[in-house]
Amino acid sequence: MSSPARCGSTRTTSRGSRTPSCARSRCPRQSRAAGCGRCAAVCGTTTWRTGRASSSALWPPRRGSDDVSDDLAPIASTARLLIALDFDGTLSPLQDEPMAARMLPAAREALNALAALPDTTVALVSGRTLGDLRVISEHGDDSVFLLSGSHGAEFWHPGSGAQATPDDAEARALRDDLQAAAEDAVAGLDGAWIEPKTFGLGLHTRLASDADSRVAEERVDALLAERAPHWRRRSGRNIVEYAYRHEGKDSAVAALRERVRATAVLFAGDDVTDEDALRSLGPGDLGVRVGEGETAARIRVPDADALATLLLELARRRADALGVRAPAAPEGAPGGNRLHP
Ligand SMILES: [Mg+2]
Repeated sequence: MSSPARCGSTRTTSRGSRTPSCARSRCPRQSRAAGCGRCAAVCGTTTWRTGRASSSALWPPRRGSDDVSDDLAPIASTARLLIALDFDGTLSPLQDEPMAARMLPAAREALNALAALPDTTVALVSGRTLGDLRVISEHGDDSVFLLSGSHGAEFWHPGSGAQATPDDAEARALRDDLQAAAEDAVAGLDGAWIEPKTFGLGLHTRLASDADSRVAEERVDALLAERAPHWRRRSGRNIVEYAYRHEGKDSAVAALRERVRATAVLFAGDDVTDEDALRSLGPGDLGVRVGEGETAARIRVPDADALATLLLELARRRADALGVRAPAAPEGAPGGNRLHP
């Protein structure tokens, strides 16, 4: 067992990953409840700032969140706050069957609490098509949550519903042809399958072997390179997406920010495509990475449960900052944001 090192240092584990190692008693900022951002991860917190030492290591989850006080305070007190969140892997655990994904109850409670506060808007920003996103987020017609689907190519706004997208018959015809051709290309590769998408297609390989995943990607890549080299290719966790619309989550957040005239944005996501949005944030915003991976986010949480805890804490702090009572979601509240008009 290794002994604690000086605060802020890292140690190498038996598996070769770098992880923080320090003692609170040696922390130069020990006057804070949890010490500094780094040793807080060891001394008791679920949340930490990202940095070179932490970008490749997932630290053990602990209790508390004092180390992000400095990050939450300006967000909590901003005039008009936009909370924009990826769905899969961020609010919901990843599922083998994509349409089985549902928001964690704690995450829904936190989002309902936030959306009930004055000048606070909640938006879901996903690569899912808008229709699928509405299903998995149990999004009702009376919801106050804004939605952006297909990586920012589709929007749904309270009161006006789904925003019409320009029709492009030629692009749709090519999409249909390529969806069918891609299905033929991966036929016989166990666990690899094609998801028809509004503006293209997705190749799923979560349940495929590494070898079959590689073959499936090579075949679909070759198909798209030959017939639709102008389409945008995005790779995520066990999925490769191809689309004739080139929007990204960065443009989705920009459009949502403008629409609600947000003075600050919190964005959280767990995958490569979320980094477009995280990189686009300004100094007054707050980016949160859920789970492992290189990131432009300022802070990191280990999983969707920890993000829900962080969002609930933000709701409490924002209620304090605005001088209003923090709304409490009833236990077992159903989907569809029933707390709101
Ligand atoms: Mg995700």
